[in-house]
Amino acid sequence: MTQLTDAQTEALYGNRFLTESVPSTAFPQGGMPPTDAFRLLAEDLNLEGDPQRNLATFVTTWMEPEAQRIIAENLHRNFIDHAEYPISAEIEQRCVRMLADLFHAPGQTTGCRTQGSSEAIMLGALSLKWKWKERREAEHASTDRPNLVFGADVHVVWEKFCRYFDVEPRIIPLEVDKYTIGPEDVAPHLDENTIGVVGVLGTTFTGHKDDIAGINQLLLDVKQERGLDIPIHVDGASGAFVWPFLYPESTWDFQLEQVRSINVSGHKYGLVYPGIGWLVFRETSDLAQDLVFYENYLGKTDATFTLNFSTGAALVLAQYYNFVRLGRDGYTYVMRQMQQNAAALAANLRASGRFEVIGDGQEQLPLVAFRLSGEHASYDESDIAWQLSAERGWMVPAYTLPPRAEKVKIMRALVKQTMSREQVERLTRDIADACATLDEKGGTHPAEREQTKMGTGY
Ligand SMILES: *Cc1c(COP(=O)(O)O)cnc(C)c1O
Repeated sequence: MTQLTDAQTEALYGNRFLTESVPSTAFPQGGMPPTDAFRLLAEDLNLEGDPQRNLATFVTTWMEPEAQRIIAENLHRNFIDHAEYPISAEIEQRCVRMLADLFHAPGQTTGCRTQGSSEAIMLGALSLKWKWKERREAEHASTDRPNLVFGADVHVVWEKFCRYFDVEPRIIPLEVDKYTIGPEDVAPHLDENTIGVVGVLGTTFTGHKDDIAGINQLLLDVKQERGLDIPIHVDGASGAFVWPFLYPESTWDFQLEQVRSINVSGHKYGLVYPGIGWLVFRETSDLAQDLVFYENYLGKTDATFTLNFSTGAALVLAQYYNFVRLGRDGYTYVMRQMQQNAAALAANLRASGRFEVIGDGQEQLPLVAFRLSGEHASYDESDIAWQLSAERGWMVPAYTLPPRAEKVKIMRALVKQTMSREQVERLTRDIADACATLDEKGGTHPAEREQTKMGTGY
């Protein structure tokens, strides 16, 4: 028999990290063979949540092999190098034009790729602020106290914008049984310092839309009666890839005169892996020119309007892949399939007699928002979320709604492209089993419940 040293047998049959702990604090002095580094990571990630069972996220967890190939083969391309990679830049502009068309832009428009809706919102809201400043300066009026009006149903990024860029947030609270906002809520908050109003298309809480058409009418009246031209920015992070296909008759986009800019996450219902969003302006003039930087970079003049600089081109290409691969028909098919499965899950939950489903008769993202009906004093929605995860690995968040509706706790299951009808039935049974376990053993202490709370806005 060959005599091997311990290190040799280890290299042959396993890897160091089966018995050693991994580097985690000091910057390692020496390196390791690629196989060891690969296995170290693979073994660590084995214990990560499984994205296919993550019903909490809006973000894409599956793309077809051809799309994956486009991504893999273009990871080395830096999107910002427009001079070297003009085709990638042109493909971005094709995507912007297609989105402008989808959102009924009336004429010449502009827009850009971003890291996600958060960057798109920061840029879009900055443009609102700068355009407001231009209007005020033209009237020789003060530009000291800008404010922005939105509902408590927005994503946290809007409050972040207000703090980072020194704008007063005027936040409209929700109510029990009223989880979106409309014109009557907005009206009292408007004045000459309002840089804009935010309308959400598909809230992260229940998947519904604000009354954007109603807010538009209010702002048209305000323009006529008080001479204040207040724009709407639509936060369509999720909804702007859902509404055009599921509810084409619904008006929320550039068909409404005061809607000046729209953001959407390519990595949500645009069906691309995380790292891509879009900002589209109604007309070129809606982008404040002061925010565009013209620079001579690597021998070519380039106009940029971004918060980041270098970033990958792969996901822009993947977005374009989806647009041409699916078209309107394909996106409609995918959205309808998700909607049908969401309806099936909602029907199952209602039929179980345990749950009340929230607003599934209205225009909504393909998801099911639900809560326990009647008295279940021994456990609540957070216990179910925890039990479901412990028993089956499903990630379904439970959370309380924002101020004035904070007494309402709900659960939310995203029903995505890869969720088959069989999985819907299985999830239904698994929820019933989790409840049966809780019927027997009761829930956890309220303080422990708090710790198991999961986020909602992603
Ligand atoms: C997800 C989401 C955001 C943030 O978008 P990212 O693409 O994750 O940066 C903003 N607004 C709404 C309504 C969202 O659903």
